[in-house]
Amino acid sequence: MEDCIFCKIAKGEIPSEKVFENENLLAFNDINPKAKVHVLIITKKHIESVKHLEEIDAKLIGELFLAAQKIAKEKNMEGYKLVVNVGREGGQVVDHLHLHLLSGDFWFNKHQL
Ligand code: AMP
Repeated sequence: MEDCIFCKIAKGEIPSEKVFENENLLAFNDINPKAKVHVLIITKKHIESVKHLEEIDAKLIGELFLAAQKIAKEKNMEGYKLVVNVGREGGQVVDHLHLHLLSGDFWFNKHQL
């Protein structure tokens, strides 16, 4: 989508600290980290949120979680949190589906999720 910040990052029009990329997905460091490691994994396809997922996206969503697993393994994470915010009431600010991968020194441990 034209005005979507994550679409622009996916196309390389806005710079990001890339962590992983394949045909369907891109992962990059969150600009405002809430943990020691805070990576965002996005679909290159513009999907607004979990609310907008369709049956045809099932495989892609599986790939999203497997990418998180791969990145976590590469970064030697013992444990981690995977978070998806849905809608404004759910804390979603950017309307392009993304998975937060967080590990170490959690902001969440001080502020209940
Ligand atoms: P959410 O609240 O789930 O929509 O999360 C959006 C996340 O995107 C926030 O954690 C922001 O810090 C992050 N963010 C926004 N703009 C950028 C950017 N240009 N590069 C990296 N992360 C970003």
